[in-house]
Amino acid sequence: MHPKLIKLEETFKASILTKIDEPLCDQFNIELWMKRDDQLHPVISGNKWRKLKFILDHALHIGSDTIISMGGVYSNHLHTLAYVGKALGLKTIAYIRGEAPALLTPTLVDLTNWGMELRFISRTDYRQLRHYKGYLDLPGLKPQQYWLPEGGAQTLALNGVAELVNEIDISYNYLCAPCGTGTTLAGLIAATPDNISVLGFAALKNAGFLNTDVNSLLKQTQSNWQINLDYHFGGFASSTPELLSFISAFETKTTIQLEPVYTGKMMYALFDLIRKGHFSRGQRIIALHTGGLQGDRQRRL
Ligand SMILES: *Cc1c(COP(=O)(O)O)cnc(C)c1O
Repeated sequence: MHPKLIKLEETFKASILTKIDEPLCDQFNIELWMKRDDQLHPVISGNKWRKLKFILDHALHIGSDTIISMGGVYSNHLHTLAYVGKALGLKTIAYIRGEAPALLTPTLVDLTNWGMELRFISRTDYRQLRHYKGYLDLPGLKPQQYWLPEGGAQTLALNGVAELVNEIDISYNYLCAPCGTGTTLAGLIAATPDNISVLGFAALKNAGFLNTDVNSLLKQTQSNWQINLDYHFGGFASSTPELLSFISAFETKTTIQLEPVYTGKMMYALFDLIRKGHFSRGQRIIALHTGGLQGDRQRRL
């Protein structure tokens, strides 16, 4: 590991396991825990760090001085990349989907303050960028520039996710995570033995493609995983009053903050599945809190 990354990680807090005390779990004799990657760092978003760590290590070792990536106007990926890039002395450039909004989102304000260069592009051009998967694939890349696909979707990302699995020091039956690109989920699958079921919860609507994408990130075929596509609440940026009231009730009870794009949907889904008797009695479930609360700042104003 590059010394700069070791030094940065020394400032992190441990991602602990928190037990969710909830009458519903007692009623169905289920133990529900959260792995608190939201606590790793006050700014750096949990799963985005896990995914970036080994990619940045690679970039630093080959002498890159600039990381170029892409994302939306609330992107947790870009937020983490900009902050970490500044901390490591790397220049960062981001292609942002759509026109520059008249009023910058809190995310875009941070990106700008941390020195990230923002390039707003049309949705068509943005989609085109998704075809470039490898770190040298972006057309027109200059020497020492490193291309990082959307959401940090790269096989190197899986190594960092494996570290979080290795930190878990209790036995368990299920490991759960919300899915955007499915890269985090692929990392969990690759790092868990066959007797553990890994469950993904898609944040996007019509996310059947995730099964193919996750499979292509895995080096070997595994069958101990599933992606639930039913709890998208209308799509990626959508939510419902029901979801939002679940989140605020959960926060009041547990003092753990959730956001409505990823972790809120996953926790809603888990409660719903427990209530419907989906899990057999005596099972222990660990849900990964992936962080991402920065993207929810406007709603909370
Ligand atoms: C990006 C993100 C995810 C999804 O991660 P993928 O690896 O793209 O599936 C989940 N939760 C949060 C908070 C995120 O920011």
